[in-house]
Amino acid sequence: MPELPEVETTRRGVEPYVVGRRIVALAVHEPRLRWRVPEELPAQLAGQRVERAGRRAKYLLIELSGGTLLLHLGMSGSLRVLPAETPRVEHDHLDLVLDSGLALRFNDPRRFGSLHYTTGDPQAHPLLASLAPEPFDPAFDAEYLWKITRRRRVSIKQLIMNSRLVVGVGNIYANEALYRARIRPRRAAKSLTLPEVRRLVRAIRTVLTLAIRVGGTTLRDYVGADGSPGYFRQRLYVYERTGKPCRNCRAPIRALVQGQRSTYYCPSCQR
Ligand SMILES: [Zn+2]
Repeated sequence: MPELPEVETTRRGVEPYVVGRRIVALAVHEPRLRWRVPEELPAQLAGQRVERAGRRAKYLLIELSGGTLLLHLGMSGSLRVLPAETPRVEHDHLDLVLDSGLALRFNDPRRFGSLHYTTGDPQAHPLLASLAPEPFDPAFDAEYLWKITRRRRVSIKQLIMNSRLVVGVGNIYANEALYRARIRPRRAAKSLTLPEVRRLVRAIRTVLTLAIRVGGTTLRDYVGADGSPGYFRQRLYVYERTGKPCRNCRAPIRALVQGQRSTYYCPSCQR
């Protein structure tokens, strides 16, 4: 599933091809995505100029001269930039055709992705309005994490993966951040000390920054905007490394299941 780093990588990949361009057409080959693509959308978009390519959580925000497109990649969606006349392959559902002759093509086998359009403030859109802070947002700091961990019995791993508290910390990144912060994933959130909370905030940002820098993690069906796979996988310390030696202390990495998600940790480095 595309996670925050993959979405940010996609944003950076498509940005130079779309900003400043005019939309010639939106071709909808399959409107039945997670929500139905509105029938009137192609007429609303035609002729508009793309001003900016932004992101909020896992939504790509394509700001136009008259409104904003909110695109979510869902479970299996990907975007490619290619010549508009390139023959479609299976699951190519949308084409945003630009005046450069290129098209932004959305492919999504499982169709959990979505496309919305708003002429109002996108941050006030019902899909975005109640989202928690981003990991890179100054609002997500040690003080914030300290406060929300104080009254919670839940494990620290489940807490940082709760998108109502902070968005974008998927399973891989939660595992890797806890390793870097030297904290056991099953610890009660409220047992963390202030230095541990500080380390964890830093580790979450570091892990996501590194993942974005190398273009995401490449999980099975994810392909970056330029069609090349991401390389973050080669830099993982614990994720899916059960039984393999810790890269720091050589102790075998352990695995367990927490809230139906796989957890990996080093029994010696993480306390
Ligand atoms: Zn270790």
